[in-house]
Amino acid sequence: MRVLLVEDDALLGDGIQAGLRLADYAVDWVRDGEAARLALQHHEYNACVLDLGLPKKDGLAVLKDLRGRGNATPVLVLTARDTHADKIAGLDAGADDYLTKPFDLGELQARLRALIRRASGAASPVLEHGEVRLEPAAKRVTRDGETIALSAREYALLHDLMTHRNQLRTRAQLEDSLYAWGAEVESNTVEVYIHHLRKKLGSDFIRTVRGFGYQLGEKAGGESAGGESADGDAPA
Ligand code: CA
Repeated sequence: MRVLLVEDDALLGDGIQAGLRLADYAVDWVRDGEAARLALQHHEYNACVLDLGLPKKDGLAVLKDLRGRGNATPVLVLTARDTHADKIAGLDAGADDYLTKPFDLGELQARLRALIRRASGAASPVLEHGEVRLEPAAKRVTRDGETIALSAREYALLHDLMTHRNQLRTRAQLEDSLYAWGAEVESNTVEVYIHHLRKKLGSDFIRTVRGFGYQLGEKAGGESAGGESADGDAPA
């Protein structure tokens, strides 16, 4: 899961970034509204945490610009004052949720999980596909009731695929969800983690759509899915 953090307060931004990284989010942190606008134009995020009082371009203008371009990235607004006017303006400009400073980091994380879940169209906090259940709050994955141990990156990749369960995910989109800017991306990283996930969850759990990317299989962990799906060792 990749999150854009827009906060000009160095101390607060540092704390939020550290907290979100501990929760295994890939975090890009920018400190002014213009940088936020550019980041949102050029990258895909699972969510954005947006301060309203920002240099160069205020948070409301960033939000209006984003929605004006038809971009539906979930946005959680941070307001400095507990005033109704600020909250109403934020929600009217297209914010999905808000928090008033000072806030608890645990609450921020819970609200982000809820935003990302709602954006995926899932009403339940638990993501399910076939026998596999993923509980974002506990970061727990089970298959047929048994807990499956996953590394942080395997988990991040699986979470991305299960959040977009009926969509094709390109390798670039999956890489984006794994890394923040500047992090080293090796050319076959996604393939390696997909391979690990198939070993742990069943070879048909994730389909390769040759030339495009990956998608959850129709029959999770069961018999062969067939159709146009092709596994890694089919001839190119
Ligand atoms: Ca500020």
